[in-house]
Amino acid sequence: MHHFSYKAGVLHAEDVDLSSLAASVGTPFYCYSSATLEHHYRVLSEAFRDLNALICFAVKANSNQAVLATLGAQGAGMDVVSEGELRRARAVGVPANKIIFAGVGKTREEMAYALGEGILGFNVESEPELLALSSVASELGKAAPIAIRVNPDVDAKTHAKISTGKSENKFGVPYVDARALYQKARELPGIDIAGIHMHIGSQITDLSPMRSAFTLLADLAKDLMSDGIALRHLDLGGGLGIPYDATAPMPPSPEDYAGVVRDCLGDLGLKVVLEPGRMIAGNAGILVTRVIHVKEGADKTFLIVDAAMNDLIRPTLYEAHHDIWPVAQELRSMPPVVQDVVGPVCETGDYLALDRSLPPFSEGGLMAVMSAGAYGSVMASTYNSRLLITEVMVHGEEFAVIRPRPTYEDLIAQDRLPKWLG
Ligand SMILES: *Cc1c(COP(=O)(O)O)cnc(C)c1O
Repeated sequence: MHHFSYKAGVLHAEDVDLSSLAASVGTPFYCYSSATLEHHYRVLSEAFRDLNALICFAVKANSNQAVLATLGAQGAGMDVVSEGELRRARAVGVPANKIIFAGVGKTREEMAYALGEGILGFNVESEPELLALSSVASELGKAAPIAIRVNPDVDAKTHAKISTGKSENKFGVPYVDARALYQKARELPGIDIAGIHMHIGSQITDLSPMRSAFTLLADLAKDLMSDGIALRHLDLGGGLGIPYDATAPMPPSPEDYAGVVRDCLGDLGLKVVLEPGRMIAGNAGILVTRVIHVKEGADKTFLIVDAAMNDLIRPTLYEAHHDIWPVAQELRSMPPVVQDVVGPVCETGDYLALDRSLPPFSEGGLMAVMSAGAYGSVMASTYNSRLLITEVMVHGEEFAVIRPRPTYEDLIAQDRLPKWLG
């Protein structure tokens, strides 16, 4: 569900006309709907209202300060994977006691910073990390609240690059070793056991792997409690998929997801932490791009647009599908043509859609690449010395530029010439 729809023949973001917005801010740009962000947060919190859940938005999905502030104002906590993300969450006023710090490679400096802030917990991914955290916390005279990330060796049935819960993935501690590591953690100075963490992957569209993982999680929780370890929370990670393709089956609803959690973990009486990223932000954002040239190739038509793989890498990195909508509604009633949508970057992998049946766009035509609100802008680069693109947020009839496009001077000024080239 999202707030991008046609009104008076033009695609709108909430009540903002995207054709006028394109004229005003220039293309390409990301556009986020604040109502959609809020709606997704609310739907998820309502589905989990009886489960004493804290919803920590996965900042890595979209870390714009305006996105974080919008969700923070709804009461969201944050799941961060670096000091930078932690600083972003704190900068918009998210209370430290609603922040979870995840990731396999936290440095001692990052640990010390997070301990100083007083975060809700560290999701610890290995024994060496646990030992380092114990030493940093002890030196600071603090106790680090932890959950050990357990790798259940469950296949999340998603793209290999976003599957994290198999034994061959770098994430977490093997399930069979977890109980012993908790025993060890209990004896370590500076460590306060708070919970257990699992996150088996992203864009999950089948709840059965979640059910398998949560069943294992419940068994481990019972074992730990019988060992006399007092747990406060179970962190179930994120991973619920979103509809990227309007013609594909719908992913499970938040209610269905909550139902699985209730079945597997409801009777333990522990607080639940969720770390959704894509489910909140994915369909709340689009990428608006303009056709530069229509190129008739030997075998097919290429729509060469002003956005490229450096702006949205998901199609080439994950073979991801993004629906493409014309901003002018009239194009939808014209006979479609099979075309490639490609950018100006000098790479064959630079495409937004391949062999896609799309309206006959002409030069200057505007299109919206849908479902680009998560893992879009955050993964952008300046490859080919292309400027990072503008980000806009809409709110009813209002819009605001929430990240202006840098200038070429800004881009070039980031480099320094060494003295000898003086
Ligand atoms: C990426 C990630 C998430 C968010 O995943 P989504 O699929 O966007 O919900 C949550 N937790 C951890 C540990 C992650 O790495």
